[in-house]
Amino acid sequence: MYLENINLSFIQPCTTDAKRIRIKASLPRNISDIFPYLNSYLKTAIYNQKANTLVFNKEHKIITIFEENINVAKLLNETEAFEVLDYLKDIINEVDEKRNEIQPSYELRKLPSPIEAYTHLPKLNCKKCGQETCLAFATKLIKGETKIKRCLHLYEKGNENNIDKLESMILLLGHEI
Ligand code: SF4
Repeated sequence: MYLENINLSFIQPCTTDAKRIRIKASLPRNISDIFPYLNSYLKTAIYNQKANTLVFNKEHKIITIFEENINVAKLLNETEAFEVLDYLKDIINEVDEKRNEIQPSYELRKLPSPIEAYTHLPKLNCKKCGQETCLAFATKLIKGETKIKRCLHLYEKGNENNIDKLESMILLLGHEI
């Protein structure tokens, strides 16, 4: 079997939503050779060949697969965490078994842009995040050079949906929240 097990390494509350949890799991081998096949099989995944990451959404969850680790964010509880790890093991093994039937894809589907991130920021240009403008902050976010929590205005009431969108973008890019 290509992947015998996936071991849960830690469970923590999500950074911006204490009601949800995020997990990290370790893989018993480097699985980057299967990324182009998974990219082909999972039609909405984003395979970032440069960063060697494959990210996709499953319902409300955001799954980031690295060479030897998997991060899952926005899980409801531990039960769901174990369910999603079982699902991932099954799908990775299934894709491995079907390698001969799957055309590997190196396509990089559209990644989030600074302008897209900017649309979810408060647009106050208050500089409290250490950047001159919200657009400069958005650019740093997309590059993984700053964190969402540096913008305190985002955590004011009514911004929950914007935080959610920004988190999804950051995770899709393979950065830590
Ligand atoms: S703290 Fe937030 S609102 Fe202020 S400039 Fe930075 S990103 Fe914009």
